[in-house]
Amino acid sequence: MALFLDVDGTLVELAPTPDEARAAPQVPALLERLRQRLGGAVALVSGRSIATLDRMLHPAVLPAVGVHGLEWRTAHGQTHRRANAAGALAAARDQLHVFVTAHDGLLLEDKGLTVALHYRARPDLGTEARSVAERVALDSGGRLELLEGKCMLELKPPGTDKGGGIRQLLRDPPFAGRRPVFVGDDVTDEAGFGAVNALGGISVVVDLDRASAATYRLADVTAVLRWLAGVEQRPT
Ligand SMILES: [Mg+2]
Repeated sequence: MALFLDVDGTLVELAPTPDEARAAPQVPALLERLRQRLGGAVALVSGRSIATLDRMLHPAVLPAVGVHGLEWRTAHGQTHRRANAAGALAAARDQLHVFVTAHDGLLLEDKGLTVALHYRARPDLGTEARSVAERVALDSGGRLELLEGKCMLELKPPGTDKGGGIRQLLRDPPFAGRRPVFVGDDVTDEAGFGAVNALGGISVVVDLDRASAATYRLADVTAVLRWLAGVEQRPT
């Protein structure tokens, strides 16, 4: 198999703010062992930047899809980035900044290639935040699209998603020709589930209730880590 893993809510427990999310101490070593076990075919697939993933999972350094497919790092360690929309992003950042500073508990995250508004601490503002973000997307004239996740609204250049990122890595060794398995928890992971399903792979959603295209379910981060430990110890 080729194993593709979302990070937040899948390998790492969600936290009140993105900066507070911490990997459990055993996770980096588990990922490195899995990578050896699967001939190198283990990759992270996240909305975070690859630089942030490296910090979170230090000292593990894995192939990765970052910022919803806007960047990816191959098994050889080469990082590629799609052309960004700097001008539109600057305008979006300014518009969202006005909204965020007017309300307590909101957080604006600048990922460089995208900008994300987090309202985990203020779910009561979800509806209002969504209409602000929709307006920002509209004002960009098609240069940005709105991507919605768990208590998160992200403005990103259109045309990439986690599914596209997975397909990109599957073009080259050691991923090419293997059966893709993708584990993720969020709405933004559905594109990844669709991609691996279409390729005859296995999709796993980390949620027992949410409607999903995934074919299997795991309850939570603990269940994912237990399952991964089993994969690592499986006889060849
Ligand atoms: Mg996630």
